[in-house]
Amino acid sequence: MRMDPRRQRERMVAEQLVRRGITDERVLSVMGGLPRHLFVEEALASRAYSDCPLPIGQGQTISQPYVVALMTQTLHVQPGAKVLEIGTGSGYQAAVLAGLGADVYTVERMPALCAHARERLIGMNIYSIHVKQDDGTLGWPSAAPFDRIIVTAGGPEVPAPLVDQLGEGGRMVLPVGAERRSQCLTLVEKMPGGEVRRSEICPVAFVDLVGVHGW
Ligand code: SAH
Repeated sequence: MRMDPRRQRERMVAEQLVRRGITDERVLSVMGGLPRHLFVEEALASRAYSDCPLPIGQGQTISQPYVVALMTQTLHVQPGAKVLEIGTGSGYQAAVLAGLGADVYTVERMPALCAHARERLIGMNIYSIHVKQDDGTLGWPSAAPFDRIIVTAGGPEVPAPLVDQLGEGGRMVLPVGAERRSQCLTLVEKMPGGEVRRSEICPVAFVDLVGVHGW
């Protein structure tokens, strides 16, 4: 018999997140409450809480829960923060950010994924997420500056427009790697005054960031 989703989520939080060092109670609480099984195809719903990425169509994947938690925790999202996400995919990461009280702007290059994510979020009564179909490596200039930026696909460099659109005191988390499917999760901080600092967090493997400032 399949375990009920609430129990599966409790196990996911305890075994995949807390055990590996995710300590932000707000992130744990939001991920413990969000029905991840509604962000994957029905045929994969029984694997929605397992410790791996899952296909979401168009050759793309929803990230492993631990990676979502780590990136979200690293961003330090406060309620009311304006957050830009590049790579909407299923909409799961955007929904986690919205659950933390952020005003989310998310960009997806593939029209089918974009439309599906928009429908899914509305169907879940989540209205604090703006979804746009575009090349996210160009950012979302008309909505800038952003307090936080998260990129959920891997490119060869930090896209310059995203650095420009990050506000002072802002944080950006993204995978960066000179080779495809193998990146270093990177934190970019813009200090008050505008100085940009970059630090490396850990190795990760994301699908390609495809665009003017991507592959
Ligand atoms: N955050 C998603 C997972 C993203 S998978 C989730 O929670 O489900 C990476 C996504 O980035 C894919 O959907 C891919 O189409 C998208 N992507 C790749 N390059 C992009 C670009 N330049 N702009 C916007 N989206 C892009």
